[in-house]
Amino acid sequence: MSALTSLPASQPLIQAEALTRTYLLGKMEVAALRGVNLEIAQGEFVAIMGSSGSGKSTLMHLLGCLDQPTSGRYFLEGREVSALSLRERSLLRGKRLGFVFQSFFLIPSLSAVDNVALPLLYQPGVRAGSAREQAQQALQKVGLEGRAAHHPAELSGGERQRIAIARALVNRPPLLLADEPTGNLDSANGAGVMAMLLELWKSGLTILLVTHDPAIAAYAQRVIWMKDGRITHEERKDELTQ
Ligand code: ADP
Ligand code: MG
Repeated sequence: MSALTSLPASQPLIQAEALTRTYLLGKMEVAALRGVNLEIAQGEFVAIMGSSGSGKSTLMHLLGCLDQPTSGRYFLEGREVSALSLRERSLLRGKRLGFVFQSFFLIPSLSAVDNVALPLLYQPGVRAGSAREQAQQALQKVGLEGRAAHHPAELSGGERQRIAIARALVNRPPLLLADEPTGNLDSANGAGVMAMLLELWKSGLTILLVTHDPAIAAYAQRVIWMKDGRITHEERKDELTQ
């Protein structure tokens, strides 16, 4: 399937209706999300902002099909994720979503290209040769084709995160979810990673980024603020100011 889906123009890529998520901590209930409604169209670059504990990661885990809501409904590309089995959900995640986290989660004993190829090897019917070829292409997209044989320890923090982005894109997902992707980087490396994401967005990728840093959110076209498990307000940038 191509990265650019043939969703009808009226069909949002993401549609969340009254999502709640309550965690049980011993006997205490923690209401991390208290009713979130959200639509994201294909091709948007959205940042979710809010202070620590406001529910950003919880929302991201739900939208990333890593977790199920306590109540509410979630549709990804028109499919109701909240109605899928665990297995269906994990297949959907593998095919349609790419993830980038604050920690890069690269495997130290594998070269860059093998790290990037890894998600493909979990898919039935993908041969190692073709997985490597696709991984090389993904490395090219992040400008690191020259580092394919390097191991994570031989790369800078910024390069490691770009390898992690290549790994997230190797399945050609239409949507990239990034939770504090520059949180472990100095400002120069962080800016490099953000410039990379901006390029990928311009080439058609939809990006949903979670951050508490206004300088990082400034890269997005639409910023959504959260507080105490709810969306409080949002702001769209004029296209011309990009
Ligand atoms: P953010 O990413 O904005 O910092 P989180 O979504 O991680 O916020 O957390 C929202 C709230 O839910 C916080 O009060 C946090 O302590 C709580 N929380 C998050 N994960 C869990 C968990 N697994 N168990 C219990 N409480 C949690
Ligand atoms: Mg978080």
